[in-house]
Amino acid sequence: MNPRGDILHGDVLIEGNRIAKVGGVFTEADEVIDASGLTLLPGLVQSHVHLCQTLFRNVADDLELLDWLRQRIWPLEAAHDEESLRWSARLGLAELIQGGTTCILDMATVRHTHIVFEEAARAGIRATIGKAMMDASPDSAPRALREETRASLDESVALCRTWHRAEEERLRYAFSPRFVLSCTEELLKEVARLASEHDTLIHSHASENRREVELVRQKTGQGNVQYLHRLGLTGSRVCLAHCIWLDDAEMNLLKDTDTKVLHCPSANLKLGSGIARVPEMLERGIGVSIGADGAPCNNNLDIFLEMRLASLIQKPRRGPTAMPAEVVLRMATVEGARALGLADQIGSIEPGKKADLILLDLHRLHNSPGNSIYSQIVYSAKATDVQTVVIDGRVVMRDRALQTLDEEEITAKCAETQRRLLNSV
Ligand SMILES: [Zn+2]
Repeated sequence: MNPRGDILHGDVLIEGNRIAKVGGVFTEADEVIDASGLTLLPGLVQSHVHLCQTLFRNVADDLELLDWLRQRIWPLEAAHDEESLRWSARLGLAELIQGGTTCILDMATVRHTHIVFEEAARAGIRATIGKAMMDASPDSAPRALREETRASLDESVALCRTWHRAEEERLRYAFSPRFVLSCTEELLKEVARLASEHDTLIHSHASENRREVELVRQKTGQGNVQYLHRLGLTGSRVCLAHCIWLDDAEMNLLKDTDTKVLHCPSANLKLGSGIARVPEMLERGIGVSIGADGAPCNNNLDIFLEMRLASLIQKPRRGPTAMPAEVVLRMATVEGARALGLADQIGSIEPGKKADLILLDLHRLHNSPGNSIYSQIVYSAKATDVQTVVIDGRVVMRDRALQTLDEEEITAKCAETQRRLLNSV
């Protein structure tokens, strides 16, 4: 995934949390991981997830976006306490790491965001996280998710001061207005200013659903992206999930401002939202990366499924040559890194970059025999082919065994906690 697209045979030397040398034979090391016969990839990047929702997996199916939010997701998010949020995040993190995702951009819920940071710190993942901001929640949103504008901004700034660049910069903050319909104009303008002042990303959703876009037009008199642009919410630090229902002028606006698009194909299909015009975005030079979104609209957090779908869903509309495997793998690595403003730190295996690496076994029945390594990874590999995961120079999964998280405890606790939460809504 370096700019030349080199595919090398050889060793990688890690010093501390960085890659020191690539491609030779290095015999001097404190610890040697034997990767014979395996494929080393840069850690995969998911630029749009919601760890707070993992506990709602399989309880919010077959609904369209606004009903899904009102009837299921908002009441469940409102019911979260610190304990349930902790298990929700831990479950998501375990699944992500086990599937080779080493870096995420996460939107938390309105309350208790420090818990998600604590869990990301403990799991060892690289994460940019933000509290969801909802100061103009529609009446249908539960009371526990409604907040005053000033309180929402103050809490976000306090979280940013505590967590931005924590854990040797492995954790970072992102101001995260949920979407235009849940935020006042005053809040959105202030977010643009604060993100620039604190040098953080801005993470939001835009133009996911046709009804949402109509409501935004009723509220603002403008298209969704045009409205965000007027308030200063476009630019290279702005990451917008979905961007399905854009007109060409809005697409050009994203290109001209270097605003990043976060593509979530499974969620877009499952909520019946539509198919984002990703090939058209890439032709314009818009940065597009990939995420699984939340577990209740997917229902996995598996980037291998997302890569495969990101390619396949475009082929009926644009022909079989659309979205080739190499392009998709770049979206899940270097483009994800670029969206997060980390292109000089992660996304490829190059000396000087952070040691975020995964080992894949591409000699299984379902991915053999190999010819094009890109086809193998994008079209036939599965998350369970990931053997070992290193993040920031630390082994967090070794031969499929999680090193920082207890898989059995998580599945047992999450079943119990999900029951408790469902009984309370
Ligand atoms: Zn989302």
